[in-house]
Amino acid sequence: MSYYDFSLLCGETGPLVSASRPDRLRLPMEGMTPILAVGDQVLAGAKVALGNGPDTGDLHAPLAGTILEVERYSILLEVDGGGKADPIQPCRDGGEPLRHWLKSMGVNVGALRKAPTLIINGVPPEPGISVFEPLLHDYRKTLELGLETAAKVVEPSKMFLAAAKGNRANAFANCEVVHVAPVYPNGLDPLVYKAVLGQEVLPGSRPENATMLSVGDLYAIGRVMETGRPVTETVMTIGGQNQLVRVGTPVGFLAAEAGAQIQPGDRLVLGGPLRGLAAANLDQGVGKDSCGLTILRREEGLEPTDNFCLGCGACERHCPARIMPGLISRCAEFKQFKRAEAYHIHSCMECGLCGYWCTAQRPLLQYIRLAKYELALLAGASAPAGPSGDEIKEQTGDTPC
Ligand code: SF4
Ligand code: SF4
Repeated sequence: MSYYDFSLLCGETGPLVSASRPDRLRLPMEGMTPILAVGDQVLAGAKVALGNGPDTGDLHAPLAGTILEVERYSILLEVDGGGKADPIQPCRDGGEPLRHWLKSMGVNVGALRKAPTLIINGVPPEPGISVFEPLLHDYRKTLELGLETAAKVVEPSKMFLAAAKGNRANAFANCEVVHVAPVYPNGLDPLVYKAVLGQEVLPGSRPENATMLSVGDLYAIGRVMETGRPVTETVMTIGGQNQLVRVGTPVGFLAAEAGAQIQPGDRLVLGGPLRGLAAANLDQGVGKDSCGLTILRREEGLEPTDNFCLGCGACERHCPARIMPGLISRCAEFKQFKRAEAYHIHSCMECGLCGYWCTAQRPLLQYIRLAKYELALLAGASAPAGPSGDEIKEQTGDTPC
């Protein structure tokens, strides 16, 4: 990989612009149960799938159209000039009824839990991803409404805004600003918890006494409350510009709109180059949590190799979790997944720094993700159950508050 700048400073990013409208949307549907079928016509904002489990927001059509395919992991929608579903009166309650209503409006509500401390993460997740900047600059009222709404569920007694030192960080009311050094990977949730609370937490978990939302989460909640319309857009940094992109917009379409020519061997990565996930193909649609699109050219990407680990320790020296990525990658390589647990694989926050610095160019993050996946299978982890037939019947209209 070519030299990479780890600074999280954003500078002046300019206003948020709306991305162009594609002719087809491929709506990602992992962890959801479809409630419509091929041939059905939908209005913009109509619900098309229910989120499985208590935390995953439902899925809505960003534009009117006809459903062409319903597959296990996506729904393909051909866009037409149809109208919009009526807005829904925002829920005025707090607590569980509000949480349930937000989920039905497409908000992922995993972090909306009662906790004495609420942390707003405003630190860029990766270098080059500056989605929080225009929101903090131009959408202050929406963010404040999002925070006010989140606080009705979390009921915090203390609130903090974490920001990279040097970036914009006007505090919200009753919210203390905590600055972190503007260097990757300081925006990752476990490191923000540590900076604010002085506590270490395992990635994917949260401490007993706190919960965390990003500035993007506040924006999504605030928009739902302002408009009475579900979450159907995400903010993404593409080619240095921040765009409001409809969920399901194909990555190939976004790259073409940005003027990029995609050559064989190039990869389109959802997120940044260090921890983003390469799209399976140009038709893959962006999700609600997509925050950036990065093109990794064949000549500058890390070519996956099966080189031996040299035992040089370069990966360990850069690991913020203080674990041994080289050793863990060897466990994964030789299918010794249980041994990887003994080397604290679950402390890995998937920052990708080990792979970047690996002298032998081993695909360390990929090995670690594979081992975590296999361990989850061994532990018998199953995805949250989908809704029952009765629940689907009951919820095919929008859930009243
Ligand atoms: S991705 Fe690598 S460097 Fe980052 S936390 Fe995990 S093991 Fe450490
Ligand atoms: S940097 Fe690469 S070669 Fe060196 S110890 Fe880590 S995995 Fe092995």
